[in-house]
Amino acid sequence: MLNLVIFGAPGSGKGTQSAKLIDQFGLYHISTGEVLRDHIARGTELGKTAETYISKGQLIPDDLIIDLLDQVLDAEAKEAKGVVFDGFPRTIPQAEALEDLLEKRGSKLHAVIGLEVPEEELVERMINRGRQTGRADDNIDTIKNRLEVYRNQTHPLREYYTTRGSYIPVNGTGTVEEIFDKIATGVENATGERRRTKK
Ligand code: AMP
Repeated sequence: MLNLVIFGAPGSGKGTQSAKLIDQFGLYHISTGEVLRDHIARGTELGKTAETYISKGQLIPDDLIIDLLDQVLDAEAKEAKGVVFDGFPRTIPQAEALEDLLEKRGSKLHAVIGLEVPEEELVERMINRGRQTGRADDNIDTIKNRLEVYRNQTHPLREYYTTRGSYIPVNGTGTVEEIFDKIATGVENATGERRRTKK
């Protein structure tokens, strides 16, 4: 298996670059944010709980999101060649849980790609995304909370994965293609896997 985490602040381009990664490396995409938005749209109990956190820009409690990921891995990713984890982990306990979830499936995490984008640009991108897609948490008040949550709870994972030798920093500014080329080169160097088509 080839398991990758795409890591970065909200608005750093994780979703956009995940789409290219799954296409070029033949992987399965799990975005915990998308799974939660789907639950909200379907009006499930989990969706109702999740909405109260998401609308405030807060994180869903670790135990809920870890259970959810465990289920999604069983239900959807059993046959996958590997997984791109997008938006997970967001806390140190989630990172520890990911190691356990992969280990119990006889696998491991191969690399963490960190998209690094200045904060002013993150805000601008999220405001634009909110205008274009109507995504409810892309409004200025929630964006500010999400960035603060990122700084306090998620950014420490950069250090966590750097210490473990799995963090690949990527400058997340520039065109989608330029950024993807840097990501793909980083993945190739770290794992020995090759992208399907090199332009
Ligand atoms: P995203 O689409 O990844 O930006 O996630 C949108 C929102 O879903 C976040 O602001 C959180 O409220 C929630 N969420 C997504 N993934 C996680 C996670 N791994 N842990 C806790 N909350 C999450």
